[in-house]
Amino acid sequence: MGFLARLFSRGKGQTRAKQGYTSIERPHGVWVYFKCHNCGEKIPLRLRTTSEIQKREGPDAELGPGTLFVTKTIVGNECYQRIEATIDFDSRYNVVSSDVKNGELITKAEFERKDEHE
Ligand SMILES: [Zn+2]
Repeated sequence: MGFLARLFSRGKGQTRAKQGYTSIERPHGVWVYFKCHNCGEKIPLRLRTTSEIQKREGPDAELGPGTLFVTKTIVGNECYQRIEATIDFDSRYNVVSSDVKNGELITKAEFERKDEHE
């Protein structure tokens, strides 16, 4: 830790948050939205700020740019694809970084938009 950890944490305040990816549900919920790469299903996920979202501190502090983070495996209703996500947030639960396997993070607007069937 030491030098590198300090270098890393100094940059955190400058990490730019992406807007629109979360929706706060007071008092203890944050919604994030995924899209499954296998079947295209849009999947909403409610995270509990009290138990699921953790502070990046100690050994975790060097592993991502966020002040807060969550690691989840999500399975939708349409298929059995396991979507594995690590999402970093700033202190106001804005997404600053995401790493999603087998899917992607989408904005609330994208989640609510109806798919066009042609
Ligand atoms: Zn799927």
